[in-house]
Amino acid sequence: MKNLKIAIQKSGRLNEKSVQLLKNCGLDFENYKSSLITTVNNFSLEILFLRDDDIPGYVAQGIADLGIVGENVIDESQAEVTYLQRLGFGKCTLKIAIPKDSEIQDLKDLNGKSIATSYPVILQQFLDEYQIQADIQGISGSVEIAPGLGLSDAICDIVSTGGTLKSNGLKPFADVRRSEAILIGREGLEEDPILCELLQRIQSVLRAKETKYVVLNVEKINLPQITEVLHGVKSPTVVPLAEEGWVAVHTVITEDDFWGKINTLKAAGAQGIVVMPIEKIIL
Ligand code: ATP
Ligand code: ZN
Repeated sequence: MKNLKIAIQKSGRLNEKSVQLLKNCGLDFENYKSSLITTVNNFSLEILFLRDDDIPGYVAQGIADLGIVGENVIDESQAEVTYLQRLGFGKCTLKIAIPKDSEIQDLKDLNGKSIATSYPVILQQFLDEYQIQADIQGISGSVEIAPGLGLSDAICDIVSTGGTLKSNGLKPFADVRRSEAILIGREGLEEDPILCELLQRIQSVLRAKETKYVVLNVEKINLPQITEVLHGVKSPTVVPLAEEGWVAVHTVITEDDFWGKINTLKAAGAQGIVVMPIEKIIL
């Protein structure tokens, strides 16, 4: 069978988590910083290490079959690729920010203003949606310093903590687009058996990340209250303890209702609660 090629970021914010995801899928490969391509030893896959901006284009042209890249980069490139799976990392928001003392208060105040950004395509779509006529200054980096230099009245850039904005005298003003890392594929690849196998592995890793394995001890008389709180993959496993009248309950709960459930379980008489990570969940 012909190997598929997956393109991931060579270095930067998505590199480590992309490599980790593939390793968690059971793929065995060397991750030399110097090489641009590596072959997976136990799966029909080659990994290409590229700049993130190049990934959508490589996939659209079929040079790579698959790619892991931020939605912001895919949208900006306007490349024709298929979205296969959200990956839950690399979360960030593209925002418009303005100088702290700016007179801009409302979106419509952006009319006639200039906005510096590395994302002219996404910004233009946003402005069109709100029927705002602004002058987009496309620049490739260090966007935050543009207002201070008198190049623009506002910026549109990726913001996570807001620290960079603050240190440049800026404040967030409007959210343009949320983004996370996505697995993309070239068009027509959907039915490929290697892709299907890889997707199944990725989904089982993602499901496992959202859930915890919980073991707790409880007096048998309190068991009905405990099982009511827990809705596991199926009903919880109940095992008798050496101590008469006590049982251990094993189950899987999602990260989301983790703390809420732990407190309710304690109130219902649960003791010695142990919470463990899960590696994979195969449905
Ligand atoms: P490259 O050298 O590959 O072109 P880059 O400098 O363009 O890298 P990074 O800063 O490594 O890109 O960010 C890669 C992606 O990570 C972004 O496109 C975005 O999807 C995501 N990301 C998540 N959080 C942040 C953040 N706080 N700042 C910037 N990007 C973020
Ligand atoms: Zn980039």
